[in-house]
Amino acid sequence: MNVVLLGAPGSGKGTQAALVCKNLHLAHISTGDLLRQAVKQGTELGLQAKEYMNKGAFVPMELVLKLLEERLKQPDCKKGFVLDGFPRNKEQLEAISKKIKTDVAVLIQIEDSALEARLTGRRVCTSCGETYHISHLVTERCPKCGGALMIRSDDNVQTIRNRLQVFHKETQPMIEEYKTMGILEVVEGDADMLTVYQGIMEAIKKHDNH
Ligand SMILES: [Zn+2]
Repeated sequence: MNVVLLGAPGSGKGTQAALVCKNLHLAHISTGDLLRQAVKQGTELGLQAKEYMNKGAFVPMELVLKLLEERLKQPDCKKGFVLDGFPRNKEQLEAISKKIKTDVAVLIQIEDSALEARLTGRRVCTSCGETYHISHLVTERCPKCGGALMIRSDDNVQTIRNRLQVFHKETQPMIEEYKTMGILEVVEGDADMLTVYQGIMEAIKKHDNH
């Protein structure tokens, strides 16, 4: 079962991917994590990626694809995987379609206004790194360690609007393509975590022919 999980920043995509993988025993593949790991381990691809990341540039798709191909050879991918953060646009979708088969693409759909509210309310603990939302906080300190909380620099309204704009522009043609392929499922994402999760599981089951 090969799943692609799509969702804007703040949609909870990473959390949902982890839940789905745990339940279905699939490998959770986040290209962001893959890149960071390769850089940390100092592999050949990692060193190449590091050069781009140090310059603040995007890592070329070919490099990400190579990392992805290596990752998919690992034994934990035998039952399938959930791709989180890749492909990001139609070009990447076309490239990856030549290498692997996707059974279903699940889009977690949320209105931008709801995403803005989620993201601007986000607070990060300066000592343990835990993320919270102001609606769940009773004090101004980290409930876990007592550390000071701060707003991430990229969580201001203008940056968030820009990120969402880029996301829509990039993903819309890709979403159309998944629709044409007959494997797109849309799940309402402006709900509690468990409801969204159940929606995703139902969407995946519709395409499970194994
Ligand atoms: Zn903390």
